[in-house]
Amino acid sequence: MLDKFKDECGVFGIFGHPEAANLTYLGLYALQHRGQESAGIATADGEKVRVSRAMGHVAEAFDERALESLPGHIAIGHTRYSTAGESRLQNAQPILIDCAHGQIAIAHNGNLVNARELRDRLVRDGSIFQTSSDTEVVLHLYARSREHTVEDALIESISQISGAFSFALMTKDRLIAARDPHGFRPLALGRLGDAYIVCSETCALDLIGATYLRDVEPGELLIIGDGGLRSLHAFPRGPLAHCIFEHVYFARPDSYVFGKSVNEVRTELGRILARESPAEADVICPIPDSGVCGATGYSDASGIPMEMGLIRNHYVGRTFIQPQQAIRHFSVKIKLNPVRSVLEGKRVVLIDDSIVRGTTSRKIVTMVRAAGAKEVHMRIACPPTISPCFYGVDTPNKSELIAATHSTEEIREFIEADSLAYLSLEGLLQSVAPESGSYCTSCYTGKYPVAIPRDERAYLQLALKAVE
Ligand code: SF4
Repeated sequence: MLDKFKDECGVFGIFGHPEAANLTYLGLYALQHRGQESAGIATADGEKVRVSRAMGHVAEAFDERALESLPGHIAIGHTRYSTAGESRLQNAQPILIDCAHGQIAIAHNGNLVNARELRDRLVRDGSIFQTSSDTEVVLHLYARSREHTVEDALIESISQISGAFSFALMTKDRLIAARDPHGFRPLALGRLGDAYIVCSETCALDLIGATYLRDVEPGELLIIGDGGLRSLHAFPRGPLAHCIFEHVYFARPDSYVFGKSVNEVRTELGRILARESPAEADVICPIPDSGVCGATGYSDASGIPMEMGLIRNHYVGRTFIQPQQAIRHFSVKIKLNPVRSVLEGKRVVLIDDSIVRGTTSRKIVTMVRAAGAKEVHMRIACPPTISPCFYGVDTPNKSELIAATHSTEEIREFIEADSLAYLSLEGLLQSVAPESGSYCTSCYTGKYPVAIPRDERAYLQLALKAVE
């Protein structure tokens, strides 16, 4: 398995289209990179909410019959990588409940940092949980609310949670979107004819031919029904903390997130890296696919030509069924193959977007040398990753992050490169200027914008361990 942080989740919602389920299926297809463990779609026809969920990729999870069993003009969908809660069907989303306020389904991208605390309290008060997912906490809070309207019950329940959330929710006759006051995870609003759409990334709008209108704002609750769209600034806006890793790695380069083109930011990271850490070399090679934009920028700023010195096999199955270390090494070889004609006799700069444990980088450097490279220089288009994420991204324990315990020189020795340099934190922030102050950079600094309760850290790390 390539040594990367794991993607989180993708959410999609649509109101006012006769083919809501089919379009949600396509939207999830575009968001597949954000989660590959399970997929689900819920639809409503004004009378009833129905849901279908399955393990696996969107294409495996749904066939024509499954989509036909989901009638209605409203739908939400979810692709999941489990960041909190084990990987099993019960934890797949959307989660649908029926309570005093009627049916409600929820799809969540992010991670709640006070879920355990709330869950313990709810269990003490008699709640019975069906899943180990943090998202279910919101539904319990909602079901217990004594407010009289769906809207007020939602505001009351969401006001109690803390952390990262971009929600797509639906009742039998409404689509609702909510984003946490810090705006950790992206959530875009679009339009297709008379239909409204919310989705994690704009690439999902592109696929179905919809137009991007704007982002759902941090702290905003959007309610879309037969009367149109209503926006409530229901939750006091906190200091903004957009996840910078969306730009570095997670989001697709053809998306716009936090109002910026991912491709442009990622390419700029490469340009800044080239200025900060130049290398005497003959060729720039990206580690595909994540290093491609950074390598384009590095090549652009350095004037050194870029070539594909490593080719990725896109048809390799999901490798989490190969958990042993010995096989993991094999999976690097099966995913990437060096191109001898590009590398032989050359001084090569390899560009990647991150080093997590360092084991994959070491394999790649060895592979490139074995293919005849004279020198191998590694350049990383982000700062050293030194701290885990608690806001919806699956990261290893701090002790497993090589940069948390090793200096850059020690990492260079470990991966056996001739030189190694990372982008500086200032360089990273420069790429998103002038909004640099609106970003979360905790995994590079260890400073967390939303406090994480002490036992919550242990709980979250335990939950992540369970799915490794
Ligand atoms: S800690 Fe890192 S991955 Fe997590 S939200 Fe902050 S920037 Fe993103």
